[in-house]
Amino acid sequence: MKKDIHLSDLISDSSMAGDYDPNAMSVEKAKAWIANFLNPIDQKETIHIKDALNRILAEPIIATMNVPNHDNSAMDGYAINLDLLSDNGPFKLKVTGKLFAGNVLEGNAEEAVRIMTGATIPSGLNAVIPQEHVELNEGVITFKTKPQINQNIRHMGEDIKSGQIVHQNGRRIEPCDLGLFASLGIDSIRVYRKIKVAFFSTGDEIISLGNPLLPGHVYDSNRYSLIGLLKRLDVEMFDLGIIPDDKKVIEDTLNKASNIADIVITTGGVSVGEADYMKDILKKIGEILFWKISMKPGRPLAFGKIGKCHYFGLPGNPVSTMVTFYQFVREAILTLSGQTPIPKIPLIKAKLLGPIKKIPGRTEFQRGIYEQDNQGIFKVSPLKDQGSGILRSMSEANCFILLHEDTAHLEKETWVDIQLFDSLI
Ligand code: AMP
Ligand code: MG
Repeated sequence: MKKDIHLSDLISDSSMAGDYDPNAMSVEKAKAWIANFLNPIDQKETIHIKDALNRILAEPIIATMNVPNHDNSAMDGYAINLDLLSDNGPFKLKVTGKLFAGNVLEGNAEEAVRIMTGATIPSGLNAVIPQEHVELNEGVITFKTKPQINQNIRHMGEDIKSGQIVHQNGRRIEPCDLGLFASLGIDSIRVYRKIKVAFFSTGDEIISLGNPLLPGHVYDSNRYSLIGLLKRLDVEMFDLGIIPDDKKVIEDTLNKASNIADIVITTGGVSVGEADYMKDILKKIGEILFWKISMKPGRPLAFGKIGKCHYFGLPGNPVSTMVTFYQFVREAILTLSGQTPIPKIPLIKAKLLGPIKKIPGRTEFQRGIYEQDNQGIFKVSPLKDQGSGILRSMSEANCFILLHEDTAHLEKETWVDIQLFDSLI
């Protein structure tokens, strides 16, 4: 297991200190810093494969049998002994038996047997000729073309060989894996336990659903966006509600959260306003890195530790919350869950359908709508409203247009990188 690294050690380490600039941290640098402090989970549990979708394999899966475990027919037809055929057709062979899947031939096959898909190939027979290629007359098949040796035979172990490593630990279980494990007779597997994530919203103006909205107040949307984001990552959630901008209550809630969870996520209160307390509280009860990331949206971001628990303080603006989650928290959760390797978010080249205004010096995650034309070329339109409070832009968009730090204004038809929302699951 990775040794605990303290934030203060790293920041005071002269080899790293040059890298640390809380006022202008690039997205990539911030990600690299965060990666230094992540301690992946090491607790394991045994679960039935039917519950294993999306879980992370904690021990390698090694095949203890061959799949298939017998040579069998890939077609409905006739298994034949090629050695009996002369050089030139038409060929004639006597049919001496019939085999269904699951049956094994009693005694020896002679010239040919009728065989169904999946049935075991009798010893001595070495090809299967499909039924549409033969004529059957009084127990004798006639055919014109000589099949190749082993034609239409599925060989023992051709899918998986006994002793083969089927998957290494760190694998996120896909639907096909469930079938693969079942084909090997494996009904339960060792996985890492689910990551526990506690989260709460902060802000005196934030109101819970079901309550009337008073003047100046807003409904808590961030907590619901987070629930959606976290559900997709299949973590165990602890929803701690809304906490007012009160130092004592926030501190108590953070302490409680850090005792039950592997990660605590809060939204709001990480800016430099007079009610933005997260930085001070974290300094008192844990360790914190606080950055003004050179990105838009999502400039302020806090990351830290409270004991062994990881902490993310996301900005409160609803789009910023989602962007910082996708760009920082998602990858951290995958790492903590034990997944290896961590899949990179694919960048796809798309042609801009409208111009974009941007100043160099920060990474922007504009919301866009992409489509593929009939030549397969990706084209993307930036949405008009790009404000960090306009959550509708996330809902209408189907991708981020990733504008790199040094990029300036872009004309229509320029090629840009996009991240498809579908690839962020
Ligand atoms: P803050 O980061 O606390 O300064 O909040 C920035 C903006 O985001 C303010 O306009 C807040 O009202 C808004 N905001 C903060 N938290 C939430 C939330 N949970 N749901 C909706 N809006 C929020
Ligand atoms: Mg606030």
